[in-house]
Amino acid sequence: MADEEAGSAERMEICSELPQTPQRLASWWDQQVDFYTAFLHHLAQLVPEIYFAEMDPDLEKQEESVQMSIFTPLEWYLFGEDPDICLEKLKHSGAFQLCGKVFKSGETTYSCRDCAIDPTCVLCMDCFQNSVHKNHRYKMHTSTGGGFCDCGDIEAWKTGPFCVNHEPGRAGTIKENSRCPLNEEVIAQARKIFPSVIKYIVEMTIWEEEKELPPELQIRKKNERYYCVLFNDEHHSYDHVIYSLQRALDCELTEAQLHTTAIDREGRRAVKAGGYAACQEAKEDIKSHSENVSQHPLHVEVLHSEIMAHQKFALRLGSWMNKIMSYSSDFRQIFCQACLREEPGSENPCLISRLMLWDAKLYKGARKIIHELIFSSFFMEMEYKKLFAMEFVKYYKQLQKEYISDDHDRSISITALSVQMFTVPTLARHLIEEQNVISVITETLLEVLPEYLDRNNKFNFQGYSQDKLGRVYAVICDLKYILISKPTIWTERLRMQFLEGFRSFLKILTCMQGMEEIRRQVGQHIEVDPDWEAAIAIQMQLKNILLMFQEWCACDEELLLVAYKECHKAVMRCSTSFMSSSKTVVQFCGHSLETKSYRVSEDLVSIHLPLSRTLAGLHVRLSRLGAISRLHEFVSFEDFQVEVLVEYPLRCLVLVAQVVAEMWRRNGLSLISQVFYYQDVKCREEMYDKDIIMLQIGASLMDPNKFLLLVLQRYELAEAFNKTVSTKDQDLIKQYNTLIEEMLQVLIYIVGERYVPGVGNVTKEEVTMREIIHLLCIEPMPHSAIAKNLPENENNETGLENVINKVATFKKPGVSGHGVYELKDESLKDFNVYFYHYSKTQHSKAEHMQKKRRKQENKDEALPPPPPPEFCPAFSKVINLLNCDIMMYILRTVFERAIDTDSNLWTEGMLQMAFHILALGLLEEKQQLQKAPEEEVTFDFYHKASRLGSSAMNIHILLEKLKGIPQLEGQKDMITWLLQMFDTVKRLREKSCLIVATTSGLESIKNDEITHDKEKAERKRKAEAARLHRQKIMAQMSALQKNFIETHKLMYDNTSEMPGKEDSIMEEER
Ligand SMILES: [Zn+2]
Ligand SMILES: [Zn+2]
Ligand SMILES: [Zn+2]
Repeated sequence: MADEEAGSAERMEICSELPQTPQRLASWWDQQVDFYTAFLHHLAQLVPEIYFAEMDPDLEKQEESVQMSIFTPLEWYLFGEDPDICLEKLKHSGAFQLCGKVFKSGETTYSCRDCAIDPTCVLCMDCFQNSVHKNHRYKMHTSTGGGFCDCGDIEAWKTGPFCVNHEPGRAGTIKENSRCPLNEEVIAQARKIFPSVIKYIVEMTIWEEEKELPPELQIRKKNERYYCVLFNDEHHSYDHVIYSLQRALDCELTEAQLHTTAIDREGRRAVKAGGYAACQEAKEDIKSHSENVSQHPLHVEVLHSEIMAHQKFALRLGSWMNKIMSYSSDFRQIFCQACLREEPGSENPCLISRLMLWDAKLYKGARKIIHELIFSSFFMEMEYKKLFAMEFVKYYKQLQKEYISDDHDRSISITALSVQMFTVPTLARHLIEEQNVISVITETLLEVLPEYLDRNNKFNFQGYSQDKLGRVYAVICDLKYILISKPTIWTERLRMQFLEGFRSFLKILTCMQGMEEIRRQVGQHIEVDPDWEAAIAIQMQLKNILLMFQEWCACDEELLLVAYKECHKAVMRCSTSFMSSSKTVVQFCGHSLETKSYRVSEDLVSIHLPLSRTLAGLHVRLSRLGAISRLHEFVSFEDFQVEVLVEYPLRCLVLVAQVVAEMWRRNGLSLISQVFYYQDVKCREEMYDKDIIMLQIGASLMDPNKFLLLVLQRYELAEAFNKTVSTKDQDLIKQYNTLIEEMLQVLIYIVGERYVPGVGNVTKEEVTMREIIHLLCIEPMPHSAIAKNLPENENNETGLENVINKVATFKKPGVSGHGVYELKDESLKDFNVYFYHYSKTQHSKAEHMQKKRRKQENKDEALPPPPPPEFCPAFSKVINLLNCDIMMYILRTVFERAIDTDSNLWTEGMLQMAFHILALGLLEEKQQLQKAPEEEVTFDFYHKASRLGSSAMNIHILLEKLKGIPQLEGQKDMITWLLQMFDTVKRLREKSCLIVATTSGLESIKNDEITHDKEKAERKRKAEAARLHRQKIMAQMSALQKNFIETHKLMYDNTSEMPGKEDSIMEEER
């Protein structure tokens, strides 16, 4: 305190030199040639005076004098008349269109789920209450601070962009009449003043000297007063700072607490005033008291008192500027122009960019004011927002890198402004077209991620820092913002730049493809569970980004095909090690396959395959667009190599099976968690689901027998399906049984799961409906439980509300608890007990529930698959898996073992799955026979299943036998259903004779024979047209498949002549 008073004599002396009124000062400025010099001179005299008492300021007095001696004169100078009158007029001029209210941390914001372009578009409470959206479906959030109200931004809302208060024209009729556009003189003055104001703000904000002011401000006799200034960081605890201060300054607890609170709030604070040496000493003391083995010392600086004063005032001037700009769009534009002007002949970036680039070096309080300045100027004027965004992207890489090594929260980093720009559709498009922003973001990622690369150039996050990686996620998030609204108009340039960005993005995926490989631990348990969270977290972050990239690619055929080609190339580049490994031959039933001698249980395997999965996604979209037949124009048959594409996803599914079979139990919990997330709703769309699709792609393009041989080989089950297998090793039997179950389940999914637009003929709504149906087949659920189990899109929507009422009815809550949705009866028919998103527990719960229900309704307990939707043409060949030789062999083996009293290589679960596959085959044939004439249906499941094998028992006979086994009582109804189905198909096959028989016996129809004939003819014509269309597509697909097979003939066939010991079971061929 003593120090404060010692300086006051000097202070009074200078004050007495300035007895001017605001008006007089304004007119004096008017006479000066150079306003900037005059303005600085004025500030140099006054600012150190007003902000003298830094340690213990009288804030009210401070504010009063700064108003009186600086702001009022400035305003007089600006308006040329009494600013109070002028500002009052401006206030009613209706100049606002955007609300732009900046949110404080903790403030409630509202987003309309029906109308917001994306979930980042929010309203303040006032605007929300006065908008149409309060009657829509909305969400409430708590702001982390830093965002602002989007009311009035026509690009942020599909409908209702204005609240009542911000609607143009409606802003009050009186206001409209007395509209007071700024006159020319005021505008001219603004052009003179604002550049000086912003220049001073920037100069002082980024001033680095500790002891000296810029020469223009050094007009006073320099005093010897310094401050020891302590800065906030996110590493030291509150208590640690208090402790350090108490020790270093030898002060009371309350004083130390006061300082610490202020530092936390403002970001910095003078904790001691005095001579340079004394402050320097305090600085060293604080540093040494705050340092220990695990922590850096606190950040402390010694600053000259006048520097401190000017820096403080610069921020106050920023707030003043904010206020002035809120009155007029002209003011904002003039200010923005001044910020963007580059000094002629200087290498320096424009002023606003200099502030941006300095952001990471600034303390909290300063950042907040600078960001507000940007909000109230650039972000309120669309044209300037665009220019600001361009500057932002220009320095994006550097800004992000600084943010990543900074320790402040994201909410007070300049990089957090990205969401305000990147989510504006027109702006995003512009930034892609003009600045290639997608590439800029992905390259930034590629530059910050190398520290996580291993020697194979794959990511490895072992021992990562959560905080630092969390900062990298922010960059990933920017990709999402840029992609969140798909362009409706594509220019050639946009297409080119997008593709370049996509290529760059593939580089990141390349570093992820096959990352964090693992090997099965045998003998000893793994010592330390490896880190897995980081890699999974990145997968989660990327899920919707991957989906959005795929959707953008699918905007037109050409783009999609080029993207496909690029992605395919990238997958192939990552598969070179596989292609060069040694080979082995698998043989069954006269079919053989030469394949790599890879074993999931012994070799390295990874669950991270984003490249393969992106390719699967693009393939599905190609099918959806009906452009699959053009694929070979972009990827030649020789290069396609479908068995390479299938390989890695297949390994991943085998890994899951082996984990279930407890073969990996020595690898610890980390693997269990990874497998969990692989199939969990948060990740599965871009992990598990895509792997199933890739296998469907394989099944649609490979010879079905070869495909199944590959599956058998990778599941390491060739041995288990060998007839001669006999083992007394109970553990091995258990393991085999689990693996067979897992494999059969995946085969069911490959053939039966068609609820993906592009795989089957289904819509997005149908997909969501099916998910809901299967959830509610487990039990009735409240809304929240259903939502939790559905994947969210980039807008955090599940699509639940649009369809729920079609499949379920809401049951109001009873006395206690909450209301639940119950499945409608008519939706029960869609229940599939082997729904691929069921976990093991969900599966058995649903099965139990549905059997119980059927029992209560006095029905049989069979749960056959519902008839699946038709495959899209690109996937139509998948069904050939069902009636191929190897499948028949697998089914028969399972049935035979169930009958054989000596065999324990089967389970009831396995039997059920075999029944399910059988049912799918019969259903397929039935559906085909109902659609086309008998002689055209080449799908001959019935025929194959009724043929005799070497054991002299066909599947039909085996079923009859199984029905007689008392232990299989539980399966009886299903067997009966299957036998009936056999009959139905048989009858349909014999339909031609039947039709003759029935028509002659029916006389009642004769009455309206003529109309009937007409209808019949029309139906026949339509059926014929449909048939021709189908035939054409099928021919195309056959050609495609044939081509792939022929190209790889060598790989498929060069071993088929080789006699193997399995020749004994070549029954199917004859
Ligand atoms: Zn608002
Ligand atoms: Zn509003
Ligand atoms: Zn709305």
